[in-house]
Amino acid sequence: MTTPPRDVIYLDHHATTPVDPVVLEAMWPFFAEHVGNAASAQHACGRFAAAAVEAARERVAELVDADPRSVVFTSGATEANNLAIKGLLAMSPAGSHVVVSAIEHRSVLDVVQRLRRRGTQVTTVPVEVSGRIDVAALERQLTGNTVLVSVMTANNEIGAIQPVAEAAAVCRARGIPFHTDAVQACGRIPFSVRETGADLASLSSHKLYGPQGVGALIVRRGPPRLMLEPLLEGGGHEQRLRSGTLPVALIVGFGAACARARDLLDEEVLRLTALRDRLWRRLRSDIPDLVLHGGWEQRLPGNLNIGIPGVDGDALLAGLQGLAVSSGAACSSAEPEPSHVLRALGVSETLARASLRFGLGRFTTDNEIDRAADIVSAAVERRRGPALFPMHSATEDRP
Ligand code: PMP
Repeated sequence: MTTPPRDVIYLDHHATTPVDPVVLEAMWPFFAEHVGNAASAQHACGRFAAAAVEAARERVAELVDADPRSVVFTSGATEANNLAIKGLLAMSPAGSHVVVSAIEHRSVLDVVQRLRRRGTQVTTVPVEVSGRIDVAALERQLTGNTVLVSVMTANNEIGAIQPVAEAAAVCRARGIPFHTDAVQACGRIPFSVRETGADLASLSSHKLYGPQGVGALIVRRGPPRLMLEPLLEGGGHEQRLRSGTLPVALIVGFGAACARARDLLDEEVLRLTALRDRLWRRLRSDIPDLVLHGGWEQRLPGNLNIGIPGVDGDALLAGLQGLAVSSGAACSSAEPEPSHVLRALGVSETLARASLRFGLGRFTTDNEIDRAADIVSAAVERRRGPALFPMHSATEDRP
């Protein structure tokens, strides 16, 4: 086994977050002490597990302002996105039409690509340079055959927060189900399924300081009733929408993470915005020609995504010792392709490759931000050489 990295400044919270100690404490007894399948209603152990699951379901629902009965636990948001889209399309006539934004996560885009190969009509709506969709343009794409629109609440690379309530309203007026991938928004900015008006919303525990391996699809309860075909069949768990023994400890952790996120949300929005702004000021003073990807307004508090012209992306990343950040999307960085999100903003392939995504989180400190900025600036300087740093100043524009 390789040794775990030490003393790394972790700024990759869009990829995953550490489990909050409070969450770990809540989960621990369900690994170590309590045994019980939540479906074993015949004995006390099973009933205890089921009660823990139901308490967690309420906590998840409370964070996103949804009916607890609308929460369907899944293995994560990849599964939730698959269930929402494939499940709905399986109940729709052949040749149905789906609309998605160009910057959706791969677990939406790859699913609609597959459906397209099987005859579904798919429209991809572009985004503006801010990374946001134009709702009027989206509305123009809707047809009598449109059975689903999917637009993420916040993007995992550039942090762009979409006008999902407006998009959902346009869909509702035409009776078209609206799905939102709320993974990056949930627990990071106020997000209400009810106020958004989404029929389906995907959530993931490990993006909000809960354990990996659990998430949820929120499925609006009727009327009219949304008909989804399950991906997994078996014991009929989760209202027959997702069979399989429930991972009680993970679900308890997910619930605890949601409750904690709710308690900390307001404070974290302010703290992470200030830290992110500090990182931006530091980097911009050292690298005056760096480019901000996405708009500054309507952006997730802890997100920064920058392009550094004139450096080789791979070489730059290799120089960032001691810093965990991602180039493009961590989720798709196993692929050598430049980020589809940055490309959708009109960023050149070369600049997309020379781009860094920072995701700040609950335990990020001022000191880490300053050290991270120094590491990036030093790596850029090494790559370019001082001659290409005409405006370099160690103190300029720093807080
Ligand atoms: N959607 C978005 C926006 C994401 O950022 C991710 C995780 N990278 C997912 C979906 C997939 O979530 P999970 O890891 O829970 O499958």
